[in-house]
Amino acid sequence: MSDSVEPTENWQDDANCLGVDPDLFFPERGASTREAKEVCRGCVVRDDCLEFALRNGEKFGIWGGLSERERRRIRRQRAQAVRAVMGA
Ligand code: SF4
Repeated sequence: MSDSVEPTENWQDDANCLGVDPDLFFPERGASTREAKEVCRGCVVRDDCLEFALRNGEKFGIWGGLSERERRRIRRQRAQAVRAVMGA
């Protein structure tokens, strides 16, 4: 998974989750994310999906095989990397 993938247009057309119950990707608090992540695991547009979610600040659900908390961690790491480059 790259840190700077430019999402391709229409990546959703190739999503592995097309036709899958969307509720699976927006589980209740504390519910398992395993099934959703399994669907994402075999998805060819996983990087695009994750990048889309990161860029749009998606706060809820499984995107690119990652949970909200996992995406927050990536956003934090990226922000730290930018601060390090800026010398802040
Ligand atoms: S990574 Fe997961 S949520 Fe994103 S498009 Fe693929 S299957 Fe759907």
